Amino acid sequence: MKNIRNFAIIAHVDHGKSTLADRLIELCGNISNREMKNQILDSMPLERERGITIKAQTVRLNYKAKDGNEYQLNIIDTPGHVDFSYEVSRSLIACESSLLIIDATQGVEAQTISNVYHAIEENHEIMPVLNKIDLPSAEPDKVIKELEEMIGIDGSNSIMVSAKRGIGINELLEKIVTDLPAPDGDPNAPLRALLIDSWYDVYLGIVILIRVKDGCISLGDDITMMSNNKKYIVDRLGIFNPKMEKCQTLYSGEIGFITAAIKDIEETAIGDTITHTKNPTLSPFPGFKSSNPVVFCGIFPKDETNFSEMKKSIAKLKLNDNSFHYEVEKSTALGTGFRCGFLGLLHMDIICERLRRESNIDLVATAPSVVYKVVMKDGKVIEIYNPSDLPDPSEIQHIEEPWIKGTVITSADYLGAIITLCEEKRGEHINLTYVNNQVMLEYNLPLNEIVFDFNDSVKSLSKGFASFNYELSDYRPGKLVKVSIIVHNNIVDGLSFITHYDKAPQQGRDVCSKLKDLIQRHQFKIAIQAAIGGKIIARETIAGFRKGVTDKLYGGDRTRKMKLLEKQKEGKKRMEGLGKVNIPQSAFLAVAQVNKK
Ligand code: GDP
Ligand code: MG
Repeated sequence: MKNIRNFAIIAHVDHGKSTLADRLIELCGNISNREMKNQILDSMPLERERGITIKAQTVRLNYKAKDGNEYQLNIIDTPGHVDFSYEVSRSLIACESSLLIIDATQGVEAQTISNVYHAIEENHEIMPVLNKIDLPSAEPDKVIKELEEMIGIDGSNSIMVSAKRGIGINELLEKIVTDLPAPDGDPNAPLRALLIDSWYDVYLGIVILIRVKDGCISLGDDITMMSNNKKYIVDRLGIFNPKMEKCQTLYSGEIGFITAAIKDIEETAIGDTITHTKNPTLSPFPGFKSSNPVVFCGIFPKDETNFSEMKKSIAKLKLNDNSFHYEVEKSTALGTGFRCGFLGLLHMDIICERLRRESNIDLVATAPSVVYKVVMKDGKVIEIYNPSDLPDPSEIQHIEEPWIKGTVITSADYLGAIITLCEEKRGEHINLTYVNNQVMLEYNLPLNEIVFDFNDSVKSLSKGFASFNYELSDYRPGKLVKVSIIVHNNIVDGLSFITHYDKAPQQGRDVCSKLKDLIQRHQFKIAIQAAIGGKIIARETIAGFRKGVTDKLYGGDRTRKMKLLEKQKEGKKRMEGLGKVNIPQSAFLAVAQVNKK
């Protein structure tokens, strides 16, 4: 055990985690030059295309140190994007220390700070690593100062590396061995293993990633998951180096995977304790809070006959990503589909994209919405995942919305613009800290104001130099209303949205005018209205076609002409009565865009 080092690589997005993992794998992994490729741990096609890490990945390396000993390094490469901070948290519980990577040209950014705080909460030893020192714009001294003043960690012994050019990697490996702690745990105690992650593999079925704290686990062992008392027999066991490699036993301090003919992924709770059925541990882990989706939207097949096909695909996706939730939803406008919950908008985007690709079905996604808590007059509290489900206003005492604590790190040049943005978003100023020319700005903000595009706004206002991160804080009452969109006298359920009272009129007008452009002209006149309860707050009209029914008539037979026009009018009336207005897919996106304002 004294020759094991378990650590996570944490950083703000794009600071070079995956590239650093590549260098470590190249030097110590069991992989040939031919098999090596950039960001090797980003194995999902989407991760490779977008250049981001979505799932945390684990790899075991063997390193022969200068002291002559062989060390086992278990590395977890984590995603940086705020949507996936859950992945980061659960990776951290599996190890004792963290390499904190900071891009020396960018300095400390918003996710650097939140990641460090998570690592500190887990009592991690944190080793700062300044990356990209090959670039002329690298300013290590400035970054070291930021580390000390913004986060309060000693940056003086930071290691300078260039993950891309392979500079400083050997020094880093030596430091890992000499400065990071070995795992603790009792090899002779009953088995106590932590469930870090689980996923579905086409060949192996459900695979779980575990960290053995006490005792050891071997092929053929009878095991119990302590949270639900389910029993299994270990039928496969191994490690990733980064290829999957089977072994006989995982010992105290080690990280590896097992399979055990587990049928249902719901039986594998992150943070659960795995122990031997015959000789169980008396001190299970405290458990791990499950991830809660924060953004919901409806996803429908464009063609309703594809529903069952889509159901299969969505169930399959869920096996690989337990943080995503779904249930069947029926909509009068869109037919039968699913109401889905996500960790954030990037997560939603990725799931929709994967669904499209993996099922080959055309989808319509409705505008995303956060989860509201409605306190009813009779004292009941209900959670609203879909604006259409909001009860009648007369039954509601008040509505509460989720708030976040947001941190923006920006150069002082853009501070004014960013403060204005936060104020527009109903923000509440908390704190401001200067370090050199960098500013750390903290605001409380309603989640529904920032979830759609706040990050993009921060980036564009600062020409890419500012960064943003948030964590959920609490629920607060707000002056919130549901805006219904009525097309041709029918409420279109997929288009309703909940918003702040003050913003409703403008957003209502924006949606109506967008819809006016998007809905094609029909034979009859179409009214598009936005309403709060019974009160219309915006209106647009699309004129009907006047089909040239009289075009074929020559000369001036007036009575025949009138007759034809009369007949056309009747026909239009009939159609109007049936009132089937085709609402294009783009209309559902339009609501999402308007909400961004
Ligand atoms: P991650 O999001 O933290 O995993 O970052 P990646 O490893 O995907 O790297 C982000 C980008 O930075 C990629 O384009 C890398 O090629 C680049 N990069 C990473 N390390 C270095 C470095 O040391 N020097 C330079 N110049 N670029 C680097
Ligand atoms: Mg990465």
